[in-house]
Amino acid sequence: TIKLSARDLSRYYGETVALDRVDLDVHEGEFLTLLGPSGSGKTTLLQTICGLNLPSRGQLMIDGTDHTHTRPEKRGIGVVFQNYALFPHLTVAENIGYPLNVRGIGAREIAQRVGRSLETVGLGHAGNRFPNELSGGQQQRVALARCLVYDPSIILMDEPLSALDRKLREQMQMEIKRIHRETDTTIIFVTHDQEEALALSERICLMRDGRIVQAGTPSEMYDTP
Ligand code: ADP
Ligand code: ADP
Repeated sequence: TIKLSARDLSRYYGETVALDRVDLDVHEGEFLTLLGPSGSGKTTLLQTICGLNLPSRGQLMIDGTDHTHTRPEKRGIGVVFQNYALFPHLTVAENIGYPLNVRGIGAREIAQRVGRSLETVGLGHAGNRFPNELSGGQQQRVALARCLVYDPSIILMDEPLSALDRKLREQMQMEIKRIHRETDTTIIFVTHDQEEALALSERICLMRDGRIVQAGTPSEMYDTP
């Protein structure tokens, strides 16, 4: 099943063409990576998918419905950014529960959902800690848990691991793959790191100058015959 599709999606900033008539189909449960150098349009594509940015032309469908102009919270999409921006004065559990709290969900349900998503990222015991007591990798897991707490059917990740050192990064790659397997979520992962794209994804879309110039499985794209 097609989960998400972009048709002829473009975004202009004055003379700059950030996205240039992108066509993309993402399948339900797929792990897709957008790979490309800085300035190639990866972030702009993610932003138009989650609704933080509106395309100048083209169409975006999610679950067969036109979402080109709908508000972000109507799209069922979770986002994890590179700078995970946790609130320093709130505990880990409060950080994760915050978006639910804002929506007026009851305390008991919040506690349950926060507990579940902490378990999923392997931080079941850290709920009462504060962000600055955690390592960078653990903080990134909290950001992931805060995203998972909504049960999003699509998760967008914009270079979420690039602030981590190599060892933590590899550990988090395994973690993200496990979460993908266990939750069956559709994941779109942005990186400029080819090695990371190869390690993680089922399919890679190579971006350049606002276009997807090549797409395929890691072995289709990078195995030398
Ligand atoms: P990437 O994520 O691959 O680094 P971006 O999507 O951030 O690429 O940027 C694509 C192009 O669009 C770049 O040339 C960038 O400078 C330009 N761009 C992105 N956002 C804006 C903006 N808000 N205003 C003007 N130009 C922008
Ligand atoms: P990335 O780390 O993915 O390359 P950027 O650093 O390019 O992302 O962009 C970070 C933010 O700055 C985004 O919100 C983007 O829209 C904005 N931005 C990027 N390029 C420009 C630009 N040339 N002018 C104004 N804003 C920009």
